[in-house]
Amino acid sequence: MRLKKNTIVGALTLAAVVAIALPLSATFAETSEAEESAFREAVKFGFSGQEIQGGVMLGDAPAGTRSLSFNGDPVPVDEDGKFIIAFNRDAGQSAQMVATLENGETVKKFFNIAPRKWKIEHVNVARRSGGPSAAFMARRRPELAQINAARQVRSDSKGWRQTFIWPAKGRISGMFGSQRVYKGEPGSYHSGVDIAGGAGTYFVAPADGVVTLAASKPFSLEGNLLMIDHGMGLNSAFLHASAILVKEGQKVKRGEPIGRIGATGRATGPHLHWSMKWNKARIDPILLTGPMR
Ligand SMILES: [Zn+2]
Repeated sequence: MRLKKNTIVGALTLAAVVAIALPLSATFAETSEAEESAFREAVKFGFSGQEIQGGVMLGDAPAGTRSLSFNGDPVPVDEDGKFIIAFNRDAGQSAQMVATLENGETVKKFFNIAPRKWKIEHVNVARRSGGPSAAFMARRRPELAQINAARQVRSDSKGWRQTFIWPAKGRISGMFGSQRVYKGEPGSYHSGVDIAGGAGTYFVAPADGVVTLAASKPFSLEGNLLMIDHGMGLNSAFLHASAILVKEGQKVKRGEPIGRIGATGRATGPHLHWSMKWNKARIDPILLTGPMR
């Protein structure tokens, strides 16, 4: 039975490859709908999530899948076939996943990424010119090095598999992806979601994870910065905290208090800035939590 199924996969994969190589008219009739659905059934890749800019998808690979890659980069697959991929805020329209199945066959999946309408604000003010000062950069460089090092940590946390919860409840005062354009010159977009909150209010871990950075003193922009790895390249950063309640290397559980909301670093008032990344992709946290209730 198992052998037979593999044989079917092999034959149909070959048919699919031939179909790409030949003109449509020659092969269209030969690839019946029944065959195609049998092929999909045999391959059994499942996905949940949104195929949109800043979106995240949880995938389900068939048993025995040997390897996966997404846009050329390897993607780890958990023991039961679960994996995660995500689309950057500025992702182009298409992305490609390539999988090598148990029997050595290679299959491809194409994603058609829907663009988002980001909140763009045009302001009639010039961007500050001259760039950052040497003094600022001298302070900034080691901070960026710490942030990058924290992002390299790959814990075995299973938080990435969970449904994320809001780390704090309150008015959303800034959306992911929004951007200011200064006299035609775009500034950098907002990398997370801002939740306005009372100074000192607890915020909690949105999912299980491991603390990869707990600033011992405020960073110049982020203030008291806390970063958590949720596993499989997915991580969260929490900015402007008035206090951090956890230590680097510590495991945290979803819903566990991890810090207090503040206005440290570059902030106009107390709020929690929560940003998320999957590898290099900046993603929209709301797409993991759903709307705040
Ligand atoms: Zn923010």
